[in-house]
Amino acid sequence: MTLSHDVLIVGGGGAGLRAAIAVVEDDPRLTVAIVSKVYPMRSHTVSAEGGAAAVIRPDDSLDEHAYDTISGGDWLCAQDAVEVFVKEAPEELLRLEHWGCPWSREPDGRVAVRPFGGMKRMRTWFAADKTGFHLLHTLFQTSLRYERIARYDEWYVTKLLVDDGRVAGVVAVELMSGRIEAITAKAVILCTGGCGQIYPFTTNAAIKTGDGMGLAYRAGAPLKDMEFVQYHPTGLPFTGILITEAARAEGGWLINKDGYRYLQDYDLGTPSPTPVLRSMELGPRDRLSQAFVKEVEKGRTVDTPYGPIVHLDLRHLRETVIDARLPFVRELCRSYENIDPVRELIPVRPVVHYMMGGVHTDIYGATPLEGLFAAGEVACVSINGANRLGSNSLPELLVFGARAGVAAASFASGAQDLAIRPAVRAQVEDERRRLERDLLQRDGGKEPISAIREEMRATMEEGAGIYRSGSSLAKAADRLRVLQERFRSVRLEDRSRTFNTELLAALELSFMLDVAETIVHCALLREESRGAHQRVDFPARDDHRFLANSLVYRDADGSRRVEYPPVTITRWPPGERVYGR
Ligand SMILES: Cc1cc2nc3c(=O)[nH]c(=O)nc-3n(C[C@H](O)[C@H](O)[C@H](O)COP(=O)(O)OP(=O)(O)OC[C@H]3O[C@@H](n4cnc5c(N)ncnc54)[C@H](O)[C@@H]3O)c2cc1C
Repeated sequence: MTLSHDVLIVGGGGAGLRAAIAVVEDDPRLTVAIVSKVYPMRSHTVSAEGGAAAVIRPDDSLDEHAYDTISGGDWLCAQDAVEVFVKEAPEELLRLEHWGCPWSREPDGRVAVRPFGGMKRMRTWFAADKTGFHLLHTLFQTSLRYERIARYDEWYVTKLLVDDGRVAGVVAVELMSGRIEAITAKAVILCTGGCGQIYPFTTNAAIKTGDGMGLAYRAGAPLKDMEFVQYHPTGLPFTGILITEAARAEGGWLINKDGYRYLQDYDLGTPSPTPVLRSMELGPRDRLSQAFVKEVEKGRTVDTPYGPIVHLDLRHLRETVIDARLPFVRELCRSYENIDPVRELIPVRPVVHYMMGGVHTDIYGATPLEGLFAAGEVACVSINGANRLGSNSLPELLVFGARAGVAAASFASGAQDLAIRPAVRAQVEDERRRLERDLLQRDGGKEPISAIREEMRATMEEGAGIYRSGSSLAKAADRLRVLQERFRSVRLEDRSRTFNTELLAALELSFMLDVAETIVHCALLREESRGAHQRVDFPARDDHRFLANSLVYRDADGSRRVEYPPVTITRWPPGERVYGR
């Protein structure tokens, strides 16, 4: 049996669902399918809390949103992409309203907006602090209107099929039965999200394992700016559960063990003391996470069994504001920390939150590999540069999900029907053999998956964390090489076909190891500090050498090659990052 569609989307989160709707609305003749390793409503988008940025108020402008994004990204953003993004974001959020998204309102009926880190104007739309849930629900229910959108729920994609330099579909495992099938398509859109699970403390769901980045990289498409990993300054210790930036936007304070708002001691690029106090908790995420490390070094944090922490203080906001604007924060604190933020301090630490890097695309979501598109967190177009501003990701899913859908539809409608050729058939058989024989039926593996995974995470935190150095990165590269070697004799004890989560964990780990290597490799080569990439041995930004994106390729022999095309600058030449004005 051959499963076949015109456009195949891998991922049923915000980007994937938006792309699917764009395909069917763009061309009524095309068939489209979504493959997702979890039921779409369980994708990570569901957990977004704080909001989605788009200009809506008369005192704001597209240029200001663009400038905040570009300076927040430390001038690594593709400015043509940012211009498209800020223009189309309000259209997308309004469209979502028409599809039923319950945006929170002001008493006079206007859409409510809140301030967000690094944004100098209030432009973050929200649905209380469950924005991702409502956004994903709206997209999902809209997608259900179209019978032409087929779904493969709980199918796991293991490989991209490439025929004569062009993507021809995927190989996927149906998790319920264990059957392994090729699904062919004229165009494939990767919408598989990020890979926070490479690190030990993360806000990211367990399913965020960088599969799409690994799939594209193995198929020969380059990954861009992988060295830029975002730490969010306020995750709960141990679980990594996010306490949204909205908590600081509503007026929350970050205090150290002496009860002192320590951010006033740090250079957030602020010109005078008064605005510092007003805006410092809403500085950009990279700077806030870096300030935490400095507080640890000064001995001004609180020690806990899960490492050092500081406190987020919401008590002065009072119960009514917390219940109206931050009900989910209260719920999370009660359920996971057994504390009530109305009366108690919330323990927080920086945790890995978001990948600025990803599969290299142009502003239409196209990758250099013909027929392959990408959108959402898996992609790097790049509007986020060296540091993403909070609330820019959700609108990015919509704007570039839609664009990738339209571009893939137009590519598929002009493409020839793909008869499954012998070369593709051979790739399918190879992949089947790898999964069946090399993983499921192999005897004698001795390395437990969990041991390799834990070591990988520790390696990344120690070697490629908030601060890095040439020696920490070189050590991490060596350790990852050893872990790749050990993975060859990974142990699988579960031979069953039904929901074999052990097989899934092994496949995910293998993608994570590949992606981790690209992060470390690119971080080692970037000898400067910019945004989320801070090298203690190269503390300054170096526009002379590195006003350039990194593109890492895997060559046919498995070796890595990195290129540095210059950043696209349209109207905003590099400047200093200044906050608090
Ligand atoms: C806790 C949290 C809060 C956040 N809050 C905000 C916020 O307030 N505002 C904001 O702008 N951003 C926020 N973000 C970031 C934003 O939510 C994410 O970047 C975004 O939702 C990613 O969406 P996506 O569609 O790219 O991927 P996801 O929603 O992660 O979906 C990925 C999809 O790919 C599928 N998939 C992956 N691998 C495979 C495979 N091998 N085979 C088949 N299917 C596969 C999964 O099943 C899933 O359906 C937050 C992130 C987190 C973690």
